[in-house]
Amino acid sequence: MKLEPHVVSFQAACVDCGAHAEVTYVAAVALPALRVSGSLRCARCACAQEWDGDALLDEAREAFIRAEGRWGAFVGELGANRMGALRVLRTLHDGPPGAAAAMLDPRTALLEGARVEVERIQAVFAAAGVPVIECRLLEPPSDGAPVSRP
Ligand SMILES: [Zn+2]
Repeated sequence: MKLEPHVVSFQAACVDCGAHAEVTYVAAVALPALRVSGSLRCARCACAQEWDGDALLDEAREAFIRAEGRWGAFVGELGANRMGALRVLRTLHDGPPGAAAAMLDPRTALLEGARVEVERIQAVFAAAGVPVIECRLLEPPSDGAPVSRP
């Protein structure tokens, strides 16, 4: 499964001069995490910043959710894979063993957030042979939302 990077751009105040600057985030699944890069470019003062990470910052998550909607990941039909799913959950979450078991409830989202985060969870579980279903929980708002260019 080849996953395309997700791209979102929006206007934000320049950190140097306060003018409208363009912020762009690019996020892709790079197991076991994400590869995220961000940039800010100001046309007025030529301020330019770039940064990288392996997870979405809140600002980036909100921008992707505005553009692509809010997504959830749910475990599919586990069959004999229950132990495999539990093993994956324990690598993702610290906490009491009961907490991981509770997350296997198919009515409870393993994760809610941006689509790229759901794709990452799907890929992590797929590597262990566990089916995870992605589902859009909220449509993106139609009023002037930033456009995502996959
Ligand atoms: Zn500026």
